[in-house]
Parts: sequence; C-alpha cells; structure tokens
Amino acid sequence: MSTPTPAPTLTLNDGFTIPQLGFGVFKVDPAETERIVTDALEVGYRHIDTAAIYGNEEGVGRAIAASGIPRDELFITTKLWNDRQAPAEAHKAIDESLAKLGLDYVDLYLIHWPAPKNGIYLEAWLAMEEIKAAGKARSIGVSNFLVPQLEEIIAGSNTVPVVNQIELHPAFAQREISTFARANGIEIEAWGPLGQGKYELLELPDVTAAAEAHGKTAAQVVIRWHLQTGNIVFPKSNNRGRIAENFDVFDFELTADEMASIDALDSGKRVASHPDDVN
Ligand code: NAD
Repeated sequence: MSTPTPAPTLTLNDGFTIPQLGFGVFKVDPAETERIVTDALEVGYRHIDTAAIYGNEEGVGRAIAASGIPRDELFITTKLWNDRQAPAEAHKAIDESLAKLGLDYVDLYLIHWPAPKNGIYLEAWLAMEEIKAAGKARSIGVSNFLVPQLEEIIAGSNTVPVVNQIELHPAFAQREISTFARANGIEIEAWGPLGQGKYELLELPDVTAAAEAHGKTAAQVVIRWHLQTGNIVFPKSNNRGRIAENFDVFDFELTADEMASIDALDSGKRVASHPDDVN
C-alpha cells in the first residue's frame, strides 16, 4: 500500500502539534471499534477522538496496539464525563481511560461538557492542570464551553485550554465563539462536522456545485471547508470507503467564492443539544 499523505498539523498554545484531520468514534459500536479504527489507521489517520462515555476506549486501544505505529506518530484524545468532574474522580477517570486505551498518556484530555448545573467545571479544570502536570495528558482542553465559561476558567487558572471542541458545521458555524477562541489562542475542534447527517447538507447546491467543479464528493467539500476555515475536524463513519473518502481531501482547494458561498449557509441552527442542557 502506498504511504498516504499525512494530515497537516496545527501548533497548540502549549507547543504540541495536532493533526488537523482525525477520526471520531462517537456511536461506534464497542464490538466493532477495533476493526473500524484499524481501517482508519490503515487509510492514514493518525488522530483519533474518543471519550470515556463512548464506551469504546478499549477497542481504540487494541487497534493502536495492533497497528505497530510508533506512539509519537499518533494523537489520541479522550474526555472526562460529567459525573466525574469532582477532582478526586477526575484523577481516577484519567487512570481508567489510560488503562482502557493501553497508554501511558493521552495527547489531549478534554472536559466533555461544562455541565453548569453541577457548577464545578472550574474545579474540574484545576484537576485537569494536575493531570497535565503528572504527564498523563500532554495537552488539556474543553468541549462544549460557552464564551463566559471559557473566560471563567482562563481567569481562574494558569492554563488556557488548547482547544474548545464544539458542534460546528456550515448551518451552525459558531462565529462568535470561534472568534473569541482564536483571539485567546484556543483552537476550534468541530464536532458533527457533517451535521451528523441530520440535515440535507450534502445535497445543498452550494456544496454540490463545488463538489462537481473539483471532481470530489459533497462530504469532501465540507471537510475542506472546515480545514480552510482553520477548524480541527474528525468525521465519523463505519464504512471503510467513506473513511478513505473523508481523508482524501489534500489534493484540491476551495476557491474564495466557494468558501464564501458555504459560509453563507450559516443559519445558527444546532442539530444537537445546547450545552446548558447536558448535565
Ligand atoms: P459527523 O458530522 O461526523 O457525522 C457522522 C455521520 O455522517 C455518519 O453517521 C455517517 O453516516 C455520515 N458520513 C460520514 N462520512 C460520510 C461521507 N463521506 N458521505 C456521506 N455521509 C457520511 O458526526 P459525529 O460523529 O457526531 O461527529 C464527529 C466526531 O465528533 C464524533 O465521532 C466524536 O468523536 C466527536 N463528537 C464530540 C461531541 C462532543 O460533545 N464533544 C459530540 C458529538 C461528536
């Protein structure tokens, strides 16, 4: 098999680098995770996004171990679930995730949701700093945080999160939070990059016209839009053909006009939960 083109990397605010295109495993059946992640690693992905709550860290770990890929060529993210934000729990949770993944450290550990009703995301963030200091996570960040919550943890700690992982796709482009994050050195990771298949994104004329112009698929156009916007992205698929398709995006570039027409699709419409409602 020919060596795949590696994904470009971005440098995080703590100096570590992250592949801008990865593979997400939300809703990947634990029994199938090892096979599917093995497919992704064979295709060329080196960045895997999982979470304790997905229940499939063991499958990710088995695929990593079987791949023989050197640890320093991989970028592995997992996440702290909402009911483990108390500091003592957070320390136990990272140890459990590392054991399941079969790793000594993750590249990125995220607070999965702010869970504002718990009211302890700042304490959780201080525990994340300790987890980083202990070498169990190279980098630490957050997910689903709103601007005031980002401001609170930045003001209340010594560490600016390296990323905020948020729902983001053309109909929900999250400009306010992206502008705030980038101004503060926080990269944006876009979850649900293809809208989770919940609206007709891949049939919209602005997307299909660009696909036709470049001889690519609509999904490849949307992934390119993310990359050219500066987002870190990890589309999910269980299908090897689509897994390969989603990584085959480094041989074309959307024009400024094509980018603008997809930018114009923003309607502020979420397809998933508001962060205030996940506790
Ligand atoms: P997604 O936008 O990646 O959509 C996945 C769906 O798109 C799949 O079910 C598949 O049917 C379809 N699809 C994939 N490739 C396709 C292609 N080439 N052509 C046509 N359809 C295609 O949604 P997602 O999985 O929710 O998001 C990606 C990743 O983001 C997740 O796997 C997970 O790692 C992460 N995520 C994080 C959070 C969070 O709260 N932090 C929430 C959801 C997802």
